[in-house]
Amino acid sequence: MIWKDVSVTEHPFFSLSIELLLPGNVFNKNSMSFLAATIENRDIRKISETVEGGNRISAEDALLLYQMAELPLLGVLATKVRSRINGNNAYYNRNFHIEPTNICAYNCAFCSYHKKAGDPQAWEHSIDGMIDIVRRFKEEPVTEVHIVGGAHPQHDLYYYIDLIKRVREERPQLHIKAFSAVEIDLMVKKSGLSLAKGITLLKEAGVGSIPGGGAEIFDEKIRSKICAEKSSPATWLEIHRIAHEQGIPSNATMLYGHIENYSHRVDHLNRLRELQDITGGFNAFIPLKYKSANNSMSALGEVSIVEELRNYAVSRIFLDNIPHIKAYWPMTGREMAQISLWYGADDLDGTIEDTTKIYSMAGAEEKNPSMTVDEIDKLIRQAGFNPIERDSFYRPIKRNNINN
Ligand code: SF4
Repeated sequence: MIWKDVSVTEHPFFSLSIELLLPGNVFNKNSMSFLAATIENRDIRKISETVEGGNRISAEDALLLYQMAELPLLGVLATKVRSRINGNNAYYNRNFHIEPTNICAYNCAFCSYHKKAGDPQAWEHSIDGMIDIVRRFKEEPVTEVHIVGGAHPQHDLYYYIDLIKRVREERPQLHIKAFSAVEIDLMVKKSGLSLAKGITLLKEAGVGSIPGGGAEIFDEKIRSKICAEKSSPATWLEIHRIAHEQGIPSNATMLYGHIENYSHRVDHLNRLRELQDITGGFNAFIPLKYKSANNSMSALGEVSIVEELRNYAVSRIFLDNIPHIKAYWPMTGREMAQISLWYGADDLDGTIEDTTKIYSMAGAEEKNPSMTVDEIDKLIRQAGFNPIERDSFYRPIKRNNINN
């Protein structure tokens, strides 16, 4: 089966009802043994038994799952792993973003966000302007600010350290998740420091964790076609390894659904799993589907939501050492985020408060992403899971204990 050829409407489950995408409606959560016994393909049956036994699958197994496993089986297997790690919980947080600029030194082919200085759609906030954004949430019980944007060609590490210190002064208890590895790589280079020293300085200024952006797809040949200029896979992994060694947790992403194939995805997941075996520092993995609006790869179109669910599921099954799989709702849309909870995801990200443009510029349905806690709670409950408001380390938050 060639995955690009499977459209939503062709998939048998879609000809019935979207509810059937919820494996719990088709198979009881405990029906694994029955299901495994009915799988005709011997290899897939063996992999299913490995997962059911709580054991790790190989990269070859992951490739077979991508190539041959049926969607309902993937949902059941992913739910098995998800339940083992996260029970019936589904997490979210109260957060907002700051995007310092969309001016970027690079020119990734899939990117709908970056602009060159002087472009009418380019923006660059001053540090004072970004502190004003923090002040807008003064009365709100937000727990995390997520700071990420273009890799600005002029600003060095000290500029960003100044920003982080100012945010810290303005709101000392706010967790600062800041800067993709690609931004860190460039700002540290511009300052003439080693990566280890640069990351130490960011931590001392107040960075509490590092987001997962910039990983794209690690395969060097594919990367040379879609984002040749920016940090190499080795550098991306090195920055996260150093951060973990310094006690800074991080997330990881994978951009998929463009010119990569299943082998490239498995290679990407495997490099993450190998690093996680050493450091244990990744909190969450976030699959990011290529969005086709307003970029130079638009002719490719987008993979179907069936493919999106397959990808969530294989990621959950394979990455047995990364605790959380995030369905980033401003990218997926609300209903897709809800359904993905049955395909391995256990985290929907946060309230966002209409503070990110990255996916709306790439054609996501959510043009002004913002959800109240009640709305997220409801989405999760409707899907059959237990909503948990979390902090940036996935510790549950009791609302009357929130410390502003
Ligand atoms: S993906 Fe990131 S690094 Fe690449 S052009 Fe866009 S903003 Fe710049």
